[in-house]
Amino acid sequence: MDYGYYNGEIAPINEVKIPLNDRVVYFGDGVYDATMAYNGTILDMDAHIERFYSSLGKLRIPVPLDERALRAELLRMAALGEKDSWYMLYWSATRATAPRRHAFPVDTPSNLIITLTEQSGLRDFTTPMQVVTYEDKRFEYCDIKTLNLIPSCLAAQAAAEADCDEAILHRGDIVTEGSHSNVSILKDGSFITAPTDYWILPGIARQNLIRAAREAGITVVERHYTLAELLDADEIIMSSSSAQLSPVNAVDGRAVGGKAPELLSEVASHLAQHINSQFGFECCR
Ligand code: PLP
Repeated sequence: MDYGYYNGEIAPINEVKIPLNDRVVYFGDGVYDATMAYNGTILDMDAHIERFYSSLGKLRIPVPLDERALRAELLRMAALGEKDSWYMLYWSATRATAPRRHAFPVDTPSNLIITLTEQSGLRDFTTPMQVVTYEDKRFEYCDIKTLNLIPSCLAAQAAAEADCDEAILHRGDIVTEGSHSNVSILKDGSFITAPTDYWILPGIARQNLIRAAREAGITVVERHYTLAELLDADEIIMSSSSAQLSPVNAVDGRAVGGKAPELLSEVASHLAQHINSQFGFECCR
């Protein structure tokens, strides 16, 4: 069963009620975070909580719960999952419940939403993705995990309609990230990934990949790279909390990557150690 939570009330997900004056309805005015949970363990919980408070601060959204209380509520929701089943644990804070006005109230409490939804599991590290490229039309707050995701939804839909798994966004010639993932490349023995400016979300899985690459002795370079470099990369890697490492084997129908399989599998094995140690069994290889 999938569960929902709104300001402390828990119910089956479609029975939770949200007031129409919640600013999330009119403006998508809120921030979120999400990660995988299994048998009550929340993957990379500290990093996700840290990013959530950072997103709140950047948009001046009041903290819905202090960190200790938020952790307790997330663990309470994760504990509702069935034994040996994977879940997406998602939470958001919406700015306020208030009459519709663009300028926002500054002294109204925010609302906390949590959902726990069953998933098939973490995506296998060896299953390749096919992707499309898509012009990045998002605004300049991409470093904040806001609820305003329409351009990302349009890009993901374009990928789905092309029978692909993800869309790689670009601003002109510069690759930014995926519609709901980060994208990095391996080239001539280096791991190259876009810097964490306001064009990309500082993904927790991206951070895991950087750590894994360094552990494998690979030089990590955080810099912008072009579509031409993407197509010419030895390997292209998509990363997100539910698909921590997915090699790409086709971009816009054109074969790519597959030129540094040993390096890729070294990164994958260090990443797997990081994840397996949290869940206490070999869920990744
Ligand atoms: N970039 C965007 C735009 C995303 O929406 C996401 C995840 O939802 C990511 C990157 C990956 O972030 P994470 O690794 O923290 O899941």
